[in-house]
Amino acid sequence: MANDEVIQPTPMEDDGLYDDQIRPQRLDDFPGQEPVKEKLAITIAAARQRNEPLDHLLLSGPPGLGKTTLARILANEMGVDIKQTSGPVIERQADLSAMLTSLEEFDVLFIDEIHRLNHAVEETLYSAMEDFEVDIMLGKGPTARSMKIGLKPFTLIGATTRAGLLTPPLRARFGDTCRFEFYSPEELEAIVTRAARIINVPIEPEGALEIAARSRGTARVANRLLRRVRDYAEVKGDGIITQAMADAALDMLRIDALGLDDMDRLILNTIIKKFAGGPVGLSSLAVAVGEERQTLEEVHEPYLIQVGFMKRTPQGRVATPLGYKHLGMAPPEAPQAHLF
Ligand code: ADP
Repeated sequence: MANDEVIQPTPMEDDGLYDDQIRPQRLDDFPGQEPVKEKLAITIAAARQRNEPLDHLLLSGPPGLGKTTLARILANEMGVDIKQTSGPVIERQADLSAMLTSLEEFDVLFIDEIHRLNHAVEETLYSAMEDFEVDIMLGKGPTARSMKIGLKPFTLIGATTRAGLLTPPLRARFGDTCRFEFYSPEELEAIVTRAARIINVPIEPEGALEIAARSRGTARVANRLLRRVRDYAEVKGDGIITQAMADAALDMLRIDALGLDDMDRLILNTIIKKFAGGPVGLSSLAVAVGEERQTLEEVHEPYLIQVGFMKRTPQGRVATPLGYKHLGMAPPEAPQAHLF
C-alpha cells in the first residue's frame, strides 16, 4: 500500500533530541581531549576513594568542543545530579542562593559562560565555593538582616569561552582548570563515525574523514554537518555517505576544504580588501561584516587563528600570507613585517 511508503519524521529530526541521542554519557565514550580526560579520570577516582565531592573545576575553550557534555559526564561518573545554568541568566543573588540551597550532597552546579556573571552574584559564589555557605537576606528595608546558611558540599563546574575575562578571585577558587583544544581530523572522524552509528546512518571511513576535515576542529560542527550530509545522501544518492557524497554535500553548503564558511571567508576578505590586510580593530571589522563582535571573537576568530589565516596583534586583526593564499590572492610584496 502506498501509505506504507510514507516516511515518518524520526525523533532525531529535532535538534534537542538528536543532541541528547548522540551526547556521550561516559568518559570512555567521549572521543578526543585526551589530556583533559586523563587528568579527570584520576580526579574522579581520587574523589570517589576519599568519598569527597570533586574539586571545583573550570572548563575553558571555544564553543562546541564538549565542555557541557563533559560536565554532565563528570556528574554521571560521580553518580550525582547536575543542575545547569548560565552566567547571564542568574540576575540576582537570591536566584543563585536558591539554586545552591537546592543541591544535594556532592551534586554538580554547572554555570556556562561563567565570565558573564554579574558582580554581586559572583561575590555570593565566593563563600559558597570556599566555605559552603551563603548569606540570605531576611526581610526588607531598614529591618532587613542577613543570615548565613550552610550548604551541602557540592562541586561547581564553570565553563567559559573567555578564560581571560574571569576575575582573579573567582579563578583562584577553582581547584583545577581544563583547557579544551580543537579536535584533530582523526578525532573528529571518530566522533562522526560514532554519531552515524547511533543514528543508524551508513557511512564509509573516507566519508567520515571528509566531514571531519571540514568541521573546523569542532565536535558540534561535525555532528551538524553529519546531519546535513545524511539528508543530501538520502535525497541525491542511496543514503550511504561516501567521500564523493560528503564532498558534494559540503560544497553545496559552501563549506570549503578547510571548513571555512561564507562568514569566515567574508571576514578574511574584508580584512584584506577593505583594510589593506590590517591591522583593523574588532569593532570596525564587526561593523564591516555585519556580525556581532562577540560572535566574531568567540566563534570565527579562534578557528581563523588556529589555521593560521589571521593574527591578533596589539594594533588589531591582521590577515597572514597564508590567509591571502587561501583566498587565491597574492600576499603584499613586503608584508607588514613588523606584524609577523
Ligand atoms: P560546549 O559546551 O563546549 O559549547 P557541548 O558540550 O554543548 O559544547 O557540545 C556540543 C555538541 O557536540 C553536543 O551535541 C555534544 O554531544 C557534541 N560533542 C562535544 N564533544 C564531543 C565528543 N568529544 N564526542 C562526541 N560528541 C561531542
